[in-house]
Amino acid sequence: VRGAWFVALWALSTSAIAQRDWGAAPARPAGEGEGPFERLIIEAGLMVDGTGAPPTGPLFIIVERNRIAQIIHGEEATGVMRGPQQRPGDKYIDARNGYVLPGFIDSHVRLIESYGRASTEPQYPLKLLLAHGITTISAQQRLEDADWALKLRGQSARNEITAPRMEVWAEFSAATPEEARSKVRAAKAKGISGLGEGWIEGPLDVMKAGLVEAKRLGLPTIWHMDSATTHRFNALDAARLGLSGSVHWYGLTDALQQGYPSPRFGDDFNIGNQRSKFSAMGRLWKQVAPPGSERWNQVIDELVALDFTLEPTFSVYEAHRDLMAASTADWNRDYLHPLFERDFQVGYGVSHLYDWSTTDEAEWRNNFHLWMQFVAEFKKRGGRVIAGSDSGYTWALFGFGFIRNLEMLQEAGLTPLEVVTAATYQSALAMRIADRVGSIEVGKLADLVIVDSNPLANFKVLYGTGVASIDSDGRPARAGGVRYTVKDGIVFDAPALLADVKKLVETARGSSKEATEE
Ligand SMILES: [Zn+2]
Repeated sequence: VRGAWFVALWALSTSAIAQRDWGAAPARPAGEGEGPFERLIIEAGLMVDGTGAPPTGPLFIIVERNRIAQIIHGEEATGVMRGPQQRPGDKYIDARNGYVLPGFIDSHVRLIESYGRASTEPQYPLKLLLAHGITTISAQQRLEDADWALKLRGQSARNEITAPRMEVWAEFSAATPEEARSKVRAAKAKGISGLGEGWIEGPLDVMKAGLVEAKRLGLPTIWHMDSATTHRFNALDAARLGLSGSVHWYGLTDALQQGYPSPRFGDDFNIGNQRSKFSAMGRLWKQVAPPGSERWNQVIDELVALDFTLEPTFSVYEAHRDLMAASTADWNRDYLHPLFERDFQVGYGVSHLYDWSTTDEAEWRNNFHLWMQFVAEFKKRGGRVIAGSDSGYTWALFGFGFIRNLEMLQEAGLTPLEVVTAATYQSALAMRIADRVGSIEVGKLADLVIVDSNPLANFKVLYGTGVASIDSDGRPARAGGVRYTVKDGIVFDAPALLADVKKLVETARGSSKEATEE
């Protein structure tokens, strides 16, 4: 969901915002994250390597400094492990009853908009992400804010702050084709990894010029297309010019519209009004080529042939089909920052779910059903689906929203193993960083998630709040949660990160209460 307000604000006071100091994440205190180590030995019950290979174990994963140096498979038949001889100074993690996965990649996080908007401390989203096993994010930024984001990227790369790795993806507006081309070149020159979200805004010829230039320079483009222009230039048109992928679904339904009547959204429809827009969007998929139709098949086949990527960000739309579930989720009690809570209720461009009706939710459920069938079929035919979350909007909370997205990809029809691959290796391919991260392979960076229970059997075990369970005395309990997140060979205690966030939220609630009483 794009923050139209931000663009408007930008237009009003470009210079003021350009000079604004967004603040920096605090330095990583001593003791927060252990390592890297000369040798880190992880003895694991089962490994899911992220490439799509079946789970395997038992095994040892040997990390030297920040690289995966060796993977030693156990002899399953006897259960006898030929482990490495431990040396003094080695760090050993006993995950014999656990599961090891590659660090997750959240390919859609609007970091600056989110915490700039809510003025929360940077460590709030960063720690929530890391505590959920997310070791890499794609930070979607205005090109004008890129320096700030690149600085943060450097701090994270040097492990000076407690944060996932950051790939900076930029967006901008342009008035002429030449300006579009020059901004694409400027982005490339700055070290931007890709162009994302509403990455180019302007007239049609401007968008096309930007797209062609990005392709020429080899910059990947994953686009939240502007739904006010997709009827003239849809996702398939853009894919033919070199667009790498789409965020959400904008432009896809327009491609599916060909041969079908124009959609009808009611006589008082206004796409400039978020409440009106998102109510109508829930009635969109039922008005285009239905599953199995000739056009539906054509669009899927051509997008797959063009090596297109779909990043549906399902979870950021979940509130549209069940507002009460999203607004009262388990994690909101301890981890929902009061400034985000306020934004989710009344923030323009952040939530538009006021006076949301039974009909709206019913339509959105049906909408999800049709949208998910499209995504699943695209995947089945060889298309790339990735797991960006767009958390920070419409009740989708950092980290939790990403895990919820995994559940929803499974609901769409991906197998749990395909979901993990979407969240790791496939995302790395789409972001063009698969040479370094995205799977557990010798030579890659040591980004890992260690969990006590099997996420393939239940993705809910990855939530920081775990799974509702029963203890040995028959009392209600919570089980699960990520145990360790390893980023760049540094071992982070995930529950400790969550405890920090919980404290931060308590403090923020205390001061917002005081402010209200004054
Ligand atoms: Zn968006």
